[in-house]
Amino acid sequence: MDTMVLLNPGPVNLTSRVRAALAGPDLCHREDEYFDIQDEVRRRLLEIYDLDPAQWAAVVLSGSGTAAVESMICSIVPPDGGVAVIENGVYGERMSQMAGAYGFDTQPVTHDWGVPVDLDQLESTLGGHDSVTHVACVHHETTTGRLNDLASIGAICRARGRGLLVDAVSSFGAEHMDFEGWGITACAAVSNKCLHGAPGVAIVIVRRDALVGDASQRRSVYLDLATYYRAQDQRGTPFTPAVPAMLALREALRELAEQGGQSARHQRYRDLATRIEHGLVGLGLAPLLGTGESSLALRAWRLPENLSYDTLHDRLKRDGFIIYHGQGGLADRIFRIANMGAVSDNDVDRLIGAMGSILANPSP
Ligand SMILES: *Cc1c(COP(=O)(O)O)cnc(C)c1O
Repeated sequence: MDTMVLLNPGPVNLTSRVRAALAGPDLCHREDEYFDIQDEVRRRLLEIYDLDPAQWAAVVLSGSGTAAVESMICSIVPPDGGVAVIENGVYGERMSQMAGAYGFDTQPVTHDWGVPVDLDQLESTLGGHDSVTHVACVHHETTTGRLNDLASIGAICRARGRGLLVDAVSSFGAEHMDFEGWGITACAAVSNKCLHGAPGVAIVIVRRDALVGDASQRRSVYLDLATYYRAQDQRGTPFTPAVPAMLALREALRELAEQGGQSARHQRYRDLATRIEHGLVGLGLAPLLGTGESSLALRAWRLPENLSYDTLHDRLKRDGFIIYHGQGGLADRIFRIANMGAVSDNDVDRLIGAMGSILANPSP
């Protein structure tokens, strides 16, 4: 099968350089050759947002983005602590499930999917629950494309002395993040979205002083962040890592730095997102959210009346494009287009052309 242009929110199309790194040398993960790769990946992850290595650590484990988020929640919230979880989409709701599964006092701050975070509701939840030690929030809620206002949420956490745990799985590397200014305690990320690596490396960026619990307090063996943190700071690894995924991530991080880092990726995504927007609006389609509310990495679009998601998906797939479905109650109302990964202007122009033909003749 020909390579598809992946417009789903990860895994992404790799550059040939990153793909070549996947076929790197066979190596043992308990030798210097591997620890050199691990050290470079951890250093470069902090450099993306200019984080001081004396204050912050990047921890890597093998798994998908969900492993990163779960590791962050189960390792940082103390056993007698509580989490207020901001929910305005699938991924916020998933964090509540995690916090509940570990038995934390879980206080969901619920919203309809896609609406902006109600800061008053957050304030009153924190005011009414002294047991809540942390607030958990998704940065880019991929369900709808909404970029949540972490500056305002972080200010409330600060004023009320609560830690802030961020699911930045679909924003890390591309969107602006002010770790110090927003008072972030930790954030979860993944290799295969805005960082343009292959799937397999779950990432947690954590303040060093947030991992003080002793081993007797751990709630998970495989997902305990402190176990990885201690081993990796001493050029070790507790378990067998996904070595090819680490090789690909190292190459993707080198490429990102050479291209100009996060601000350059942000600009590239802005250009692609604008190109897609002009094309689709020109065809009469409407986005779910306004331009300023949406991330630059993914946008949700309203399905036209006369076209089902399945028809749109299948016809675009015949033309070489993979788009993404809406979830839950949005399933028959929207489709989503991400512009992460090695997507070219020409890919976008061809997509708009293909969409134009489908809209002109929308039968399956
Ligand atoms: C993709 C994603 C995840 C993790 O999904 P996995 O399938 O486990 O990689 C978590 N949060 C957000 C916001 C995401 O977009």
